[in-house]
This record gives sequence, structure tokens and C-alpha cells, in this order.
Amino acid sequence: MTDRYAVFGHPIAHSKSPLIHARFARQTGQDMVYEAILAPLDGFAESLAQFCAEGGRGANVTVPFKEQAFSLAKTRTPRAELAGAVNTLIIENGALRGDNTDGAGLVADLTRNLGLALRGKRILLLGAGGAARGVVGPLLDQEPARLVIANRTASKAVALAEHFDRGVEGCSLDEANTPFDLVVNATAASLEGQLPPLSPEVFGTGSLAYDMMYGKDTPFLQFARSHGASTADGLGMLVEQAAEAFHLWRGVRPDTRPVIATLRSA
Ligand code: NDP
Repeated sequence: MTDRYAVFGHPIAHSKSPLIHARFARQTGQDMVYEAILAPLDGFAESLAQFCAEGGRGANVTVPFKEQAFSLAKTRTPRAELAGAVNTLIIENGALRGDNTDGAGLVADLTRNLGLALRGKRILLLGAGGAARGVVGPLLDQEPARLVIANRTASKAVALAEHFDRGVEGCSLDEANTPFDLVVNATAASLEGQLPPLSPEVFGTGSLAYDMMYGKDTPFLQFARSHGASTADGLGMLVEQAAEAFHLWRGVRPDTRPVIATLRSA
């Protein structure tokens, strides 16, 4: 029987995950289907339970269900525990194991696709929501010289930094005013077409500005470019976090580059 996988979200019609996983499956010869499921806002647990009962083997979870997926998972990987959110579920005999592949996806895109070694670098992470929380641990594992989390609500950045307690600093957006090698925008500002109020001092000629949002030249990327930084959007992260999930489920690692190239040209 063909193995079933799905992504759950609300909304979900925009999701590129079915396309990405269909490409991975074809490339690696895996017998599987992957669909998008619109779970009711108050009915994620029921929707997921039905999918499990029907023999589903694994799932991705996106906005706004990542925290619920964390609670529903019977067991969790250490990186999911650290992130406090689950974006990937492995279903074994009806039991859910939760993982979080967002951080691994970001690190893979930065280091493998964009060629940026993170060791010894100064990293500024903008935002303290779910996406930011998911990437702090994997970024720290790369041994940067400095990791600063800056957020509109400074107290949330400070709390997130303290949660990791490995020399991470937390501050308000305007307190970040020295140059960084990498500036990652993990705020939701780009979704609203807004620029986070940010000092241009954070960018230098060698800086890379990375927006987790993908498919748009956002105000953040335009601002960074106008202050000398090179830029990248989050499409590579999206494909890399999917590849990490695919590897967990199927035990094979797909080649992400042709998939990124296809999505980029679409
Ligand atoms: P959350 O809602 O959990 O967090 C939102 C964060 O953005 C908060 O820190 C909030 O600050 C900040 N924020 C919102 N609006 C503004 C603004 N106008 N100016 C400054 N800060 C703002 O969202 P997520 O963490 O889930 O998602 C963040 C982004 O990451 C989204 O664009 C999402 O699409 C993207 N993403 C991309 C992925 C990929 O694979 N490429 C994977 C996951 C997420 P405050 O605390 O003050 O409210």
C-alpha cells in the first residue's frame, strides 16, 4: 500500500510542501503520497487522529498548530523540546513522535546552499516567536562568536535568550546597532509588508541578510541591500526543512538543489 503523509495547517492552500515532497519521492523512487489537509482552527487534534486511524505514516505541521503538535506528541526529539514546537510528526503504530526540522533547514540553507560557515560569526536573529525559537539551538550548535536575539517586545527576546543560557543575548530591536555577519529576519513583519524598525548599523559590506519569508523581495531585504548587505529569502530553508523531514520518514536524503531551482523559477 502507498504510504500516506500530509501537511496540516490553517490556511493551507498556499503550501508548497505537497509539491516539494512529490519531487523528493519521484527523485528517490519512494512509494508515497503527500497531501495538504486544512484542519479546522478548533479541530487539529481530531483531524490528526483521523489521519492516524487511516494509516498515515507522518505529517508536517504549520501555522497555527505547531505548539499543539508539540503537546500531542507522545515523545519528542531534544531539538523539538528546545524549540517548544513541532513541525514534523513520525507516526509509529498510531503513536506520535515530534521533531522540529526548521533550524536544521535554516542551517543547511546557510551553510550548504549559500556557502556561509557560521563558526565564529556574529549572528543577529530578529523576532522571538515560533520560527525564532526553532532555530536558536541549531544556530548555537554551529558555534557562532555571538548570537543576539532582538525583538519588538524586548522582554520576549530576553526570555528566549535566557531559555538557552549559552551566552545568547536578548534585547530590543533598537538596541541592536553594531555590525553582524548574518542578520536573520524571523519576525512576521514581512508577511504584513512591513520593515522591522532596525538600525542600518547592523549591516556591513560582508553581511548576509536572510528573510525567512520566501517568494518576495521584502522591505527587509531591500533595506539590507541598500545598506551594503547581500540577501537571501527563506525558500531554501523551506525545502531543506522538508528534506530533513523526508529523511526522518524514509531514511533517504533527497537532493534539494533541483527542487529549490524549480520553485525559484516558478
Ligand atoms: P510568530 O507569530 O510566532 O512570531 C512573530 C514575531 O514577529 C514576534 O517576534 C513579533 O514580535 C514579530 N513581529 C510581528 N510583526 C512585527 C513587525 N511589524 N515589526 C517587528 N516585529 C514584528 O511567527 P513565526 O515565528 O511562526 O513566523 C515568523 C516568520 O517566519 C513568518 O514570516 C513565517 O512565514 C516565517 N517562517 C518561514 C519558514 C521557512 O521554512 N522559510 C519556517 C517557519 C516560519 P512581538 O513579540 O513584539 O509581537
